[in-house]
Amino acid sequence: MSKRLLFINPRPKTDVNLGTDVSFMNIPPMSFGYLAACTPSDWEIKVIDENLKRYNGEDADLVCFTSVTNNAPRVYELAFMFKEKGITTIMGGIHASMMPDEASRFVDTVVVGEGEKVWPKIISDFEKNRLKSYYKGEKASLDKLPIPRRDIYSKKYKNRGLIQTVQTARGCPMDCDFCSVTVFNGGLYRQRPVDDVLDELETLNSKFVFFIDDNILGYGKAAEKRAIDLFKGIIDRGLNIKWGSQASINFVNNDEVLKYASESGCFGMFCGFESLNEESLKGMHKVRNLKEGVSKFKEDIRKFQDSGIGVLGSFIFGNDSDKKDIFKKTSDFIFDSGLDGSQLSILTPFPGTKLYQRLKDENRLTHTDYPNDWVYYDVGHLLFKPKSMTSEELLHGTYDVYKETTSISSSFRRGLVSLMRTKNIYTSATSYLCNRGYGSLFIKKLEKQI
Ligand code: SF4
Repeated sequence: MSKRLLFINPRPKTDVNLGTDVSFMNIPPMSFGYLAACTPSDWEIKVIDENLKRYNGEDADLVCFTSVTNNAPRVYELAFMFKEKGITTIMGGIHASMMPDEASRFVDTVVVGEGEKVWPKIISDFEKNRLKSYYKGEKASLDKLPIPRRDIYSKKYKNRGLIQTVQTARGCPMDCDFCSVTVFNGGLYRQRPVDDVLDELETLNSKFVFFIDDNILGYGKAAEKRAIDLFKGIIDRGLNIKWGSQASINFVNNDEVLKYASESGCFGMFCGFESLNEESLKGMHKVRNLKEGVSKFKEDIRKFQDSGIGVLGSFIFGNDSDKKDIFKKTSDFIFDSGLDGSQLSILTPFPGTKLYQRLKDENRLTHTDYPNDWVYYDVGHLLFKPKSMTSEELLHGTYDVYKETTSISSSFRRGLVSLMRTKNIYTSATSYLCNRGYGSLFIKKLEKQI
């Protein structure tokens, strides 16, 4: 009889309690597809994504959880249930990697870092009944990365078949204060060979692709050339896809990058502006944005839009240099710049980041009943004492910007502006959906705190 492996992506408890339907934003966790591709073929594999359906008692020989910080308490709750049944549990993902000792109190095995290379050894050790408590993943070359198994994902994803996710690179040398990417994936920007990515794109049965890289352009001239080669390859192979990704705003500074991105079907880019306050950018060590300069942000957005690419910009409130005026400044900027979509976050001290350590050292963290309080680490909750405004001002200010910029009428107007500038219906529709989606989710989170 085949052995049964159950992958579970637990749903954060705070999102469950909100009752918000965010299923249109759900994308299958890619890590399961990669691990499945590295699992021997005599294993039967099943995935439960609690964003689609709560776990309801399925049995297995081995259970593997992926984790982000705010779903960690749900991982631990489920792990307890499996322990009672005598089923072995493994936990990987970013939270397990940042808090391995905590995770180890609840699960049998913790995987720290990227899992693919070490996964065959874990499965083999399990089969020989000698599973260890910890395994360390390698930040290895991405040259031989397998194609993730997409057949394991549920047909219940609302966007399944509509949007597929592909990863082309990992790692970031920038090390921003609030971000754990550099600790998790390393400071070296590692790229898959262009032909491997193009081969994978050819296997997809979807017109829409989201490249889940943290920065598809990468860092340095060689990386820019590789991005251009990738975009040209999409055109040359006639893949005819529409795609989006994430990049720094300096993406627009290379005309060739912009031209081939647009011609290869790029219609949206997620860019971390993070703040319109240069002092805050300095505090976050957001070096790229400082170099670009806040005064150039509007021009950069327009360059994207003139190439038919919409911009989803993220902003973070609550930096030590942020005063009350940051809220009006940001909502004015969102409207004046014609920014297609916006995501507004409250500065969140994720474990493993420099920000977390600093706030802890300064005794400013307010939600430290771990692991229970990890549920609030979701960029929609205030978790520390702000420096240059009160907690109430920070919560109300964030709420007001969301209300103003993502109401039905504002989202509709922003969608229209997006259509006029990009002449791209996909961009305009994404602008409307993202603004409404982020708005309704975060407004509910904020309303519970004010
Ligand atoms: S926020 Fe972006 S640029 Fe900064 S460290 Fe994280 S991935 Fe790199």
